[in-house]
Amino acid sequence: MNAPESAQPLFTQAPPRLGNQFRDDPLLGPWLRRTIPAEHAREIAAELDELGRIAGGDLYALQIADRENEPVLRQWDAWGNRLDTVDVSPLWREAERLTVKHGLVATAYEPAFGRHARLAQFLKVYLFHPSSDVYTCPLAMTDGAARCLIESGNQALMDRALPRLTARDPAKFWTSGQWMTETTGGSDVGRSQTRAVFENGRWRLYGRKWFTSAVSSQMALTLARPEGNPGGGKGLAMFYLEVRDANGQLNGIRVDRLKDKLGTRKVPTAELMLEGTQAELVGQPANGTRAIEPMLAVTRMWNSVCAVAFMRRGLALARSYSAQREAFGQPLANLPLHVDTLAGLEAETWGAFLMTFLLVELNGRQERNEIDAEQRSLLRLLTPLTKLVTGKQAVSVVSEVVESFGGAGYCEDTGLPQLLRDTHVLPIWEGTTNVLSLDALLRSDLHSGLAALMGRASACLRGVSQPRLAAAARQAVAAMERAALWLEAGQDPEILQAGARRLAMTLARSLQLVLLCEHAQWLIDNEKDPRGMSAALRFSRLPVDLMHDVDPALDRQLLG
Ligand SMILES: Cc1cc2nc3c(=O)[nH]c(=O)nc-3n(C[C@H](O)[C@H](O)[C@H](O)COP(=O)(O)OP(=O)(O)OC[C@H]3O[C@@H](n4cnc5c(N)ncnc54)[C@H](O)[C@@H]3O)c2cc1C
Repeated sequence: MNAPESAQPLFTQAPPRLGNQFRDDPLLGPWLRRTIPAEHAREIAAELDELGRIAGGDLYALQIADRENEPVLRQWDAWGNRLDTVDVSPLWREAERLTVKHGLVATAYEPAFGRHARLAQFLKVYLFHPSSDVYTCPLAMTDGAARCLIESGNQALMDRALPRLTARDPAKFWTSGQWMTETTGGSDVGRSQTRAVFENGRWRLYGRKWFTSAVSSQMALTLARPEGNPGGGKGLAMFYLEVRDANGQLNGIRVDRLKDKLGTRKVPTAELMLEGTQAELVGQPANGTRAIEPMLAVTRMWNSVCAVAFMRRGLALARSYSAQREAFGQPLANLPLHVDTLAGLEAETWGAFLMTFLLVELNGRQERNEIDAEQRSLLRLLTPLTKLVTGKQAVSVVSEVVESFGGAGYCEDTGLPQLLRDTHVLPIWEGTTNVLSLDALLRSDLHSGLAALMGRASACLRGVSQPRLAAAARQAVAAMERAALWLEAGQDPEILQAGARRLAMTLARSLQLVLLCEHAQWLIDNEKDPRGMSAALRFSRLPVDLMHDVDPALDRQLLG
């Protein structure tokens, strides 16, 4: 039967579309021109262009098609033999191929770009990550393990593992795990129970590792307590182990199960029992928490880059959708309140990007020994600050992105719920927000770090001439000074701890604001581009100074 003539055809909403993620990024091109010398920038931009096309094209399409696949743990074969193999999703296999081809780990260790090698690497990661279903998790640990082995000076292990971890040949490439967290706690790792026993001339490990991402890796760095060592972090030592032997048999490891997680579901995070796992001592038979710090510095940098990358992906989708979806007779992109909402997210993303890539730049300098004492102090403080602030910004931005799609954002087959769930891990792993706030506050070199931070902020302020930008930069410097005053006021230790997150957030957000002002001034002067100024002014109206008085006694009363 024909429909009555007056009936309208059923409306179908066009989905959001992604273009080349390098070309479409409003910040990336100008920032590259500002930061990286022309002879490197051209070569880097060419590869970014290719990755941007893949990330917004074939890889994104594969990611959507792969949505329902998850890793599968096969514990037994049909005849009762223990296997404990993990089959990862098709997208992860493609992500591994792209990793090796584009050197997503290797670039940082190659000489081509000198002190810009880290920037070149992480710009690629920034484009790749959101389409990779968090394949960047094992890559972060792979990079961290490579750096950690270099810092350890253990030549035999460097010779064995580095060519694998930084390989450009798929047949050679290894990823690494970082097995630290136990049931006793991931924050207070000093309580770890895994024992290291020296038996017949070899170290063997016994214990349970409670979160290991990903168990599909070929090696791991881990912590265990050599027998007779005291408790606490100092009594732990760092060990290197290979997951399987030359015959493919597990190295005294039992995979109990894969975690059933809120997000990062493509990442096979496992609970493991170490039952006499052969391992090599990397350095001293103690001070393992100190020895593994270089790994954490690297994985925290990855976390920050992935946070900004998720923010950018969310915004790319939200902006595309807002141009297509109509309400009240207009595209959402024309509605003032929708514009206001997205502009706030864009400003957050710009601030997070500039801080994160300052961290990356400083790491690149440090690794090539082209860093002065002040920059080194800044780098140490920036590592926890950047990780903690960008993790929170990413969750908040991506949550708002989901809402900007209305009900569609809540439906699995748009891919948006997965984006939110995957983002939610970023404030948790590699140190939670509170733990990193305390890490920043309690470090012995906090004062030199703070002085370096204020120095950087003042330099930004001096470079800004546009009056509105200068006012915003002064606002940021004033917030930093207020935070520093609070710190120097000789607070009661309980009040200090209670205020650590507000302190960390204030320092981090103030830095983001001055960096935004500095970049905005450069854009005006060099490219007559007003967008940086819009981002900076918008950010200046968001909460930057989060310091306020606290009364821990009242809070205890509130919690009963
Ligand atoms: C998906 C996923 C994958 C992971 N993969 C790995 C991996 O590969 N390898 C690995 O080693 N670990 C891994 N982890 C573990 C992760 O690093 C830990 O979960 C994290 O460090 C927190 O440790 P916890 O879970 O034991 O929480 P706890 O340490 O018990 O912390 C609980 C809460 O207490 C807070 N807290 C703790 N101490 C303080 C303090 N002094 N003051 C104020 N608040 C405090 C924390 O902020 C947190 O909110 C993974 C976790 C997840 C979710």
